[in-house]
Amino acid sequence: MLRYTKEFKAQAVDLVRHGKPVQEVAQELEVGRNLIYKWIQKETPNAPTRQRRSRDRTARSYTFRPLTIQPRPFLDLPSVQCSLLLARNSDMFKTRLNTILTALVALSLCTNNIQAADAKPDAKKAKKADPKAAPAKKAEDKKTATKKAEAKDPATKKAATKKRKNRKKKGAPALLVAANHQVSIPKDAFGKEYLMSASLIPQSEAPTSTGLAGKIVRFELFHDGVDIYESTQGLVVTDELPAKRLITSFPIVKQDDKAVIIDFNKGMRRVFSEIWYGMSTRFSARDRDSVAELPQSRVFSVTRDRDQLVIRQSAQVRDRRFNPNEEGRYEIRYFFAPYTGKKSGGKEHTKRESRYVRFFETQGQLEKTSGRAVSKIALFDLKKPLQFYWSANTPKDYVQAMKDGILYWNRAFGKEIIKAGPAPKKITAPDSRHNIVQWVPWDSAGFAYADILVDPRTGESRHGQAYMTSVFAVSSKARARALIRSLREQAKKAEEKEGDDKEHRHSMFPSSKVCRVDHSIWAKELAGGLEDMLANEDVTDAAVLRASQDYVREVVAHEVGHVLGLRHNFAGSLAATMNHKELDEFFKAYLKGENLDKYKDKLSGHSMMEYTAFKGSVFVGWKMRATDSVLPHDKAAIQWGYQDKQDVKEQKMFFGTDDDVGKYGDLNRFDYGVEPVLGAYSEISAYLGNLPNSVIETFIRAKAPVDPRDAVDLKTVNLSPGATASTIASDYRDILKWYRASTRSLRLENKFDFIGDLNRRERVKAHWDSLNGQLTKLGGVDNALFAYLPTTLKLENKPVDKSIVAAQKIDAKKLAERLEKLLNSPAYSEFVGLDEKKYKFTDDEKKLIVERGKNYFEELEKALIRQILSAFERATRDIGFEATRELGEKDAVAQLEKRIGDLARAVIIAKGTKKIEGRLSKTAVTITDFKYDHATRLGAARALTDRIGSYRSWSKDAKADIHAKLKAEIDGQLNIPNLKTFHESNLSRPLRQWFLKQSEILALLPARKAPPPRK
Ligand SMILES: [Zn+2]
Repeated sequence: MLRYTKEFKAQAVDLVRHGKPVQEVAQELEVGRNLIYKWIQKETPNAPTRQRRSRDRTARSYTFRPLTIQPRPFLDLPSVQCSLLLARNSDMFKTRLNTILTALVALSLCTNNIQAADAKPDAKKAKKADPKAAPAKKAEDKKTATKKAEAKDPATKKAATKKRKNRKKKGAPALLVAANHQVSIPKDAFGKEYLMSASLIPQSEAPTSTGLAGKIVRFELFHDGVDIYESTQGLVVTDELPAKRLITSFPIVKQDDKAVIIDFNKGMRRVFSEIWYGMSTRFSARDRDSVAELPQSRVFSVTRDRDQLVIRQSAQVRDRRFNPNEEGRYEIRYFFAPYTGKKSGGKEHTKRESRYVRFFETQGQLEKTSGRAVSKIALFDLKKPLQFYWSANTPKDYVQAMKDGILYWNRAFGKEIIKAGPAPKKITAPDSRHNIVQWVPWDSAGFAYADILVDPRTGESRHGQAYMTSVFAVSSKARARALIRSLREQAKKAEEKEGDDKEHRHSMFPSSKVCRVDHSIWAKELAGGLEDMLANEDVTDAAVLRASQDYVREVVAHEVGHVLGLRHNFAGSLAATMNHKELDEFFKAYLKGENLDKYKDKLSGHSMMEYTAFKGSVFVGWKMRATDSVLPHDKAAIQWGYQDKQDVKEQKMFFGTDDDVGKYGDLNRFDYGVEPVLGAYSEISAYLGNLPNSVIETFIRAKAPVDPRDAVDLKTVNLSPGATASTIASDYRDILKWYRASTRSLRLENKFDFIGDLNRRERVKAHWDSLNGQLTKLGGVDNALFAYLPTTLKLENKPVDKSIVAAQKIDAKKLAERLEKLLNSPAYSEFVGLDEKKYKFTDDEKKLIVERGKNYFEELEKALIRQILSAFERATRDIGFEATRELGEKDAVAQLEKRIGDLARAVIIAKGTKKIEGRLSKTAVTITDFKYDHATRLGAARALTDRIGSYRSWSKDAKADIHAKLKAEIDGQLNIPNLKTFHESNLSRPLRQWFLKQSEILALLPARKAPPPRK
């Protein structure tokens, strides 16, 4: 029901009385103008009437002269010259007005909920709702309005005429709702510009929307249909050559002298699939024109929300470029509003600035004559307060977090620009008027993202929405465990189906989400963070809930940042003022509920638009709650975009967005810290520290799942050493890549005025110095890369910097001992399952876990060595030479290569315990097999390849040395030197196979050639 309180009405009238134009008041309070006129009439019977005001200010349809729709320069067709003759005769005028008012009132009733909802948060003075307030009486409304039509107010006449003229120039009437979900186009709408924007909503899994590129369109009337054309502005370089961009033709259902009713559904049998933002300023007519077909569709709802028409179409969507037999089920929600934007305007990035800040941009447009492509950045018009809502289904525990996340951005603006309130029950995203943060109850899918509907010409943001899945609501330990399980499964599935992303399964809209993140990486990150949290023995449910609320705070703020136009800034963590260790210490203290004051001035990064690892996110959320501070880049970026301040450029702030990932070695999603080598090392260290815990967590998830149907026999639980090894190896490669001169560092490059050939040496030198500095902190190459590997190399033992937690050596035996100890520790001797019940492992189960764990750790040792060796095979190490132009004697490259040789030797020569029996000729022979399997040993030989390395002969000696040792070993085992003749065919099958394998390895390792005889 439409109800306005007395106070609210009085406020509206008051504003008009104090000289504010009705139009502005209507916009501000988000109520219809006609209602305000009605209220004015009731409050002050002598006030100018609705009619008077209408004619003066806004009436577009009531002009007293023949109205001719001017044909566009390119549209020189007589049939569109429809003229509307409105008589001066007051009776006729009344009739016309009656019709219009009836339509308006009827429409305002259609959108009751929306208007009533809008009114409350916006009406500052209307604090108490008055349930007895009379609902709008449409009949009375229109009668009163008509009766007072002739009242005049000479004082305002002049100003009003001027305004009317202005209005006339830009004015396009709103499209109207017709019966049977059809659309009524007022005759004076033809030829005028409308903004057509659309959201695409998949009808499976989570029906969340994706914004499509808006178009500025124009309707043209023909004898047999209504055409809709896209404005050519920004799409052609000249108006001197006629151009028309037909979007579609709508059949006419009926028409009279006032309006044409069209069948929207029959006309709109395709959807333009270009997404709402461009990744570059490039102009592409092809992207603009790409469509998907709608084999079947139905418009099931047409409503009006003030001047905006919202059309909802159910559709099958088929994209012939991909699978012609696949029909995606979507709702397409169209928004049509009179285009009130400027012909030009909007802010652009300049090259100078985009190194330090980027906003989302419209798709590229062409400038007249020059043909230069430009994009405008997405910005809201801040003349009005920016109201955000959290959806009504937000769980109670997270409402405050939602609110904080939204309002955070006021700190960046430096004033109160954004307001936050609960969305009315039936309003869900996407909504034509509301900026909504929508909670999506879906525990097993992790995503949060946002999109905006923007004016394609100026970049003005119309409305935006963000989606949060309930996966973020980790409210208890049990829930954390449940989540870890589902996240791990998700990560596995995502890895199996390479590149598959469940929520944009339909290939026609592949890259439409703003906040995209690789599902498997995200799921792993969160699962890792949660596991880390549960590994703290004294963590309570309350602490877990608190952490998850702070996490939600951060994620909401991140998504709202997108709605405000900000793009990702993955360079955020380069501005951290806490190292890994400090962040860990913070997190522990946080979970224990200790005093955290000393962290208040610290930074885990300088941008909310970063993808932060779990602990970092919690830190940011906590800081939002505990202080009034704003992250520096957030503030500078918002003030650059909305207030033209230049701090972000002047202070050369670190910035890098999605397209920069991969370009810079220190610009990664979910990385942490300023120094990337230390960062990667710390990741390894933390991961190794938690290995035994994660084994136990795996068994807990199997024994006590959320749903008993998912319980798994502990005997069938699998642990995957290969997956664990590849996680470690991936961080390991992140260290190695800094040995490559072509790896770029954003942090270091930021200091250079330009990036080019002329200063390449200087830049490489800076990288080399930085690498050496970091290796020194880690206690040298040996500690950084070899000390924790499961081998027995002789290494230098230098101290590790205090700020770094040294990585523990991977030792299957010791890990198994730790596992056993942990199983009997207070944290795990009795534990809460995913179903929140208490459990204990039986003795047999503990035995099984220890056994399985031991096996897993042993296999992990081997798997890791194999993967590390394969990393060396590809690890370019040219940085030392590129930086200094000479080969170092004892530098970090020389040391690394020395150790690669040592490791290869150890792996190839190491003997195992397995015996192989066979025969050589007729003699029975037993040999001892080597420790590592053939593939690993081959990998060790290949790691010594001279295709890679500091210079061609770097591994020559190591290879020859290993060759000699291996040869001696083979000879010794088979007793070859004492044989008269030896041929492999004399070996029986098992021995022969063994021998061939050794030969294969020897072939990769050339023997040292005897020096040529002197002449
Ligand atoms: Zn994002």
